[in-house]
Amino acid sequence: MRKGSRRARAGGPDPGPAPSRRRLALLLPLALALGLAGLALLWAPGGDPHRDRPLPPAAPPAPAPRSVPSAELRRVAALVDLQRLWTDFLMPMLVERTPGSPGSRRVRQHIVDSLRARAAGWHVELDAFEARTPRGRLPFTNVVATLDAGAGQRLALACHYDSKVLAPDARGRRFVGATDSALPCALLLELAAALDRDLQRSKEQGAGVTLQLLFLDGEEAFGAWSDSDSLYGARHLAQHMATAPLRPGARTTQLQAITLFVLLDLLGAPEPSIHSHFAQTAAWFERLVAAEKRLHRLGLLRAHPREQLYFLPGAPHGPVEDDHVPFLRRGVPVLHLVPTPFPAVWHTLEDTADNLHPPTVENLARILAAFLAEYLRL
Ligand SMILES: [Zn+2]
Repeated sequence: MRKGSRRARAGGPDPGPAPSRRRLALLLPLALALGLAGLALLWAPGGDPHRDRPLPPAAPPAPAPRSVPSAELRRVAALVDLQRLWTDFLMPMLVERTPGSPGSRRVRQHIVDSLRARAAGWHVELDAFEARTPRGRLPFTNVVATLDAGAGQRLALACHYDSKVLAPDARGRRFVGATDSALPCALLLELAAALDRDLQRSKEQGAGVTLQLLFLDGEEAFGAWSDSDSLYGARHLAQHMATAPLRPGARTTQLQAITLFVLLDLLGAPEPSIHSHFAQTAAWFERLVAAEKRLHRLGLLRAHPREQLYFLPGAPHGPVEDDHVPFLRRGVPVLHLVPTPFPAVWHTLEDTADNLHPPTVENLARILAAFLAEYLRL
């Protein structure tokens, strides 16, 4: 399984089951070549990947899970608009968008414009910086959108909008990373659009927990994946948030205000197998399991033959290194929504809109909308 190699080295289960030797054996030979010693360094014995976090989180506890009535589930599911997701949000992202490129700037503007078009009134900030890469110093820009910047708690949903540097083929086809991660970013924009009125009301009512959308730059490595050549945007933003006060003069940092960090990656291919990665957030993963089952029983999921098709029991097929790691290491609870194994088209020129599965995309959007309605009490 070649796909494991690039991301298979950190963010191990916490403190849930560590991958068995058998699972490790399923990982890429390259991951093994990188050494179990490296894995041991990143997975503290006893399964505590937080050992290097500076401080325990000081944020108030996250809201308790609650179930929404079926009528509410139907209402929220009906707000999702696949056509809008595809045409308005996804298609403009399907260009080469490597950090600092013209495509990156256009896609970033598209994200900002899409959020500013919402009635809810998103507070949109750009976290721009430069970093040294194997290709020299490059500019990176994260987009940080907060529904109510004054709220004390934040549910953060994250995706990466950069595309990997891959050479075009002989026919001139370029890498557009549909699952990696244009579609996850389009899902976030669709959730903001579908739930616009609900989010506006939640903000006006001064709800204690608000929504934050993070569109991260520079997730991809330029050369061989390493701690210094990957996760540029996530590393910068996590470090910034760890010291930035939630409000001027507040003792709580922006990072401590994140009660749950939900990372979406490599979504959009048919029948993703998504597992819970962290025991700390297993209760929230179970809410996704429940939402999938309930929407299925209500007949609101398409091309969905079994009630439990995406959000599955059991451990993932190996750990996955991704944008959550800098946040996880600082003690932020993480829900990592990434299919394992990765989509067959991962890091190939075939990762295009044609190889996405629209019913799966719509189903995931509905499940996530239900999840937000529960978490944010919309
Ligand atoms: Zn990638």
